[in-house]
Amino acid sequence: MNEQKTVLIVEDEKNIVDILRFNLMRENYKTIEAYDGEDGLEKARTENPDLILLDVMLPKMIGFDVCRQLRQEGNNVPVIILTAREEETDKVLGLEIGADDYITKPFSMRELIARVGANIRRSAMISAAGSAAGEDKAMPVSGDLSINTDSHQVFRAGKAIDLTQREYELLTFLASHPNKVYSRVDLMEQVWNYGYVGDDVRTVDVTVRRLREKIEKDPANPVYILTRRGAGYYFAV
Ligand code: CA
Repeated sequence: MNEQKTVLIVEDEKNIVDILRFNLMRENYKTIEAYDGEDGLEKARTENPDLILLDVMLPKMIGFDVCRQLRQEGNNVPVIILTAREEETDKVLGLEIGADDYITKPFSMRELIARVGANIRRSAMISAAGSAAGEDKAMPVSGDLSINTDSHQVFRAGKAIDLTQREYELLTFLASHPNKVYSRVDLMEQVWNYGYVGDDVRTVDVTVRRLREKIEKDPANPVYILTRRGAGYYFAV
């Protein structure tokens, strides 16, 4: 077995915490629990978990504020938002404030375990790659933008840019098919390749907007990821 990873569960419904703890422990994860947002934020800071499962509706501080606060502090721990089915806008909001992924309740435990594993592996890979070495091996894709696909790092003018997993995947997908226009539905299928088909395609717009804010000098006048009105998005070279 690999080194044991720690998952912080921030959720106020005790029966959900119990079932999450049970299933995660069975997969050899260590768990820490918090039953309100303030305690969740505190434990995220002090316990250094490898991933956070974050409910939205929480006492004292809602999940979005917990995630937003962590990102403002420069904490890039992978965050999976747990959202109720009726709260459609949660998905969009969650991505806007820097969550890596979200899962809709009621969720399948198998899917949840798979996503926990995938998000932890990705994050470990990124932090294992030193930033200097990463830049050395980064391939220029367009203008002053370069990508190291080994370390999953993106640079603009030699400076590393912090992207979430989904932002990185969207960027590399578009950049590997330069000037080809993809509709939002295409991108949902190609980039959000599990469980997202049929969901609101605004998720794509939100992720593109966040990506532009990070990689473009002037996000209002992008030069890398462009919109073809009525058709979709493409990476311009
Ligand atoms: Ca709740």
